[in-house]
Amino acid sequence: MDVRNCKSCGKLYNYIGGPPLCPSCVKALDDKFDLVKKYIYDNIY
Ligand SMILES: [Zn+2]
Repeated sequence: MDVRNCKSCGKLYNYIGGPPLCPSCVKALDDKFDLVKKYIYDNIY
């Protein structure tokens, strides 16, 4: 188990891969910030 702080809101969450964000922030990005999500992905992979 890999627990990390969300890069957006600072909340602890169980990291399962992908962007360093908690599930609720990932969902917020999906809803509103496709360009930001793309930026984050580009900087991870
Ligand atoms: Zn978050």
